[in-house]
Amino acid sequence: MLIVMDRGATPEQVKGVIEVISAQGLTPQPIPGGDRVAIGVLGNQGYVDESPFRGLPGVREFIHVTKPFKLVSRDFHPEDTVVKVGNVEVGWNRPPVIIAGPCAVESREQVFAAARVVKAAGAHMLRGGAFKPRTGPHSFQGMGFEGVDLLAEAGKEVGLPIVTEVMRIDQLDRVAEKADCLQIGARNMQNFDLLKEVAKVGRPVLLKRGMSATLEEFLAAAEYILSGGNDQVILCERGIRTFERALRNTLDLGVVPYLKNITHLPLIVDPSHAIGRREIVPHMTKAAIVVGAAGVMVEVHPSPAQALCDGPQSLSPDDFTKLMAELTG
Ligand code: PEP
Ligand code: MN
Repeated sequence: MLIVMDRGATPEQVKGVIEVISAQGLTPQPIPGGDRVAIGVLGNQGYVDESPFRGLPGVREFIHVTKPFKLVSRDFHPEDTVVKVGNVEVGWNRPPVIIAGPCAVESREQVFAAARVVKAAGAHMLRGGAFKPRTGPHSFQGMGFEGVDLLAEAGKEVGLPIVTEVMRIDQLDRVAEKADCLQIGARNMQNFDLLKEVAKVGRPVLLKRGMSATLEEFLAAAEYILSGGNDQVILCERGIRTFERALRNTLDLGVVPYLKNITHLPLIVDPSHAIGRREIVPHMTKAAIVVGAAGVMVEVHPSPAQALCDGPQSLSPDDFTKLMAELTG
C-alpha cells in the first residue's frame, strides 16, 4: 500500500505515519517526490488494513498495490536506478551501454580475440557464457569455471567489466569473485531459489526476460532480487516466443517505452537472441536504441562460422566494428 500525504504535510506528520507503520510490524519506505510525498508500506503478506492510519494528520489517501511487484515500480521509487557494473553506469536517460562478446567462451585465443575486437570498436562491457543453458545435452555446455577465469582475464587485459551467466546456486560465490555482473538467463527467470540467492552475493544482476514470460512475471522476478536487498538489476528483453517462426523469436520492442514508465530499473535489449540472424541484428540494435533502451547486448565472435554456439546470429569483427561506427557516427 502507498500512503499519500497532503501536499503541505510537515516532516513531523510524515514521521508520525512512519512510526505507526513500524508499530504495526510493517516496513515504511518514504518516497519523496516532486509534487507529493508518499510512504510505501512493505512487509505485508496480504491486504493492508487502513484503519490504523486513517485520520492521522497529513494523510490524504491510500493506494492499494495489487500487482506482484512494488519495489521495482516507479510508484515506490520514482527516480531512475543507475546500475554500476565496474566503472560502467547503466540507466534510463543515459547514453546507451553496449555489451558485446561471444555467446560462449570457447578457448583462451577465442575470448581474447573477441575482447580485443569489442574493446577496439568501443563496447563498454564484455559478455561470454561459461555455463551454457543449451536446449539439448549433446550441444557444447560451456567451459565452466575455467571459462569464467578466461573471460575475467580477457576483460582485465582490455579494461572492460564482464558479464556471465550463472545457472545454479552453487556457482554463485565462485563466479561472483570473478565477474562484475551476473546474468540470469531467460530459462532461469523464474528459478525463484536462484533469484533469492543471487540477490545476496553483492554483484549487479542482468535478468533476462523468459521467452514466454509476461511483463508482470518479468517484473515479479526482478522483485525477488530487490526484496533480497539488491537493487542493482538490469532487465533485458531478448525476444519472446510467438506463433511466428521465421526469426528465432519475436523482438518485443514496445516494452522499452512501456517499461520505462513502470519501472526505475534500466532495460537493455538483446537483438541477437531475439532475431537469430546476423544480417538483421544491426538493424534491431539501432531500433532498440532509437526507442530508448538503456543499452544493448550483442553477440560477437572472432570467427562466427566456427562458433560452438549461436554462430548464425553472431556478428563478425567487421560487422561489429561497422555497427559501432554507425551508432556513434
Ligand atoms: C545468453 O545470453 O547467452 C543466453 C543464453 O540468452 P537467453 O537466456 O536470453 O536465451
Ligand atoms: Mn547465445
